[in-house]
Amino acid sequence: YKKISIQAMIEFKNVSKSYGNFKALDNCTTQVSKGEVVVVCGPSGSGKSTLIKCVNGLEPFQKGELLFNGVSLGATKTNLPKLRAQIGMVFQHFELFPHLSVMENLTLGQIKVLGRSKEQANEKAQKLLDRVGLTSQAEKFPGQLSGGQQQRVAIARAVVAKPKLILADEPTGNLDSKTSYEIMALFRELNERGNTIIMVTHEEDIAAFAGRIIRLRDGIIESDAPNSS
Ligand code: ADP
Repeated sequence: YKKISIQAMIEFKNVSKSYGNFKALDNCTTQVSKGEVVVVCGPSGSGKSTLIKCVNGLEPFQKGELLFNGVSLGATKTNLPKLRAQIGMVFQHFELFPHLSVMENLTLGQIKVLGRSKEQANEKAQKLLDRVGLTSQAEKFPGQLSGGQQQRVAIARAVVAKPKLILADEPTGNLDSKTSYEIMALFRELNERGNTIIMVTHEEDIAAFAGRIIRLRDGIIESDAPNSS
């Protein structure tokens, strides 16, 4: 017999997180399964960013348990760098290296962190640029691209190491609505190719793209339900 385990990719069990005396997450319990697109929605200051920072171990929490594929993020023996290597990050302000070309932005990590040769890294980067529709922009610098194009580069960079999970923090926060929809279509395509995605947004029309919406208020999960729209 094959042993089949049904395990959530991410499991929050009664997680509480404080900054000093201020409780940013209050007894949060939820799960994210492989293949899901989950949007974390809520007003500014409700704890959205804190929630996803906990997932990649960027913020320690004081109470509860948080598991990534069964590995406890709070345990001191957990190898956080190894765990983070399985997670791709996308940010509101793109966070590209401004002094490096698009191609260099996509190959630097592959060469330095993944130990790929320059040729391998270039080939992989070309493929991803193709997929995000930026083949002709490879030699440009981020400042020479539109916001939407920069976010496409950032998304390509986030998936270059084949992450199991993509965390996106307000990825359309700096973009007009047409460009936002294009970026969301790109995320949807990544999901169809097997990526699990957790995305923070305060924009309701962006949340409509998700399979499930977690709503936060004052650090409390107010609702957590499949998207009905
Ligand atoms: P959101 O992403 O929903 O806007 P955040 O998770 O960024 O909310 O912040 C939740 C709350 O925690 C806010 O009230 C914020 O001021 C506070 N907070 C966030 N980061 C810090 C920090 N490093 N130190 C102190 N307070 C913080």
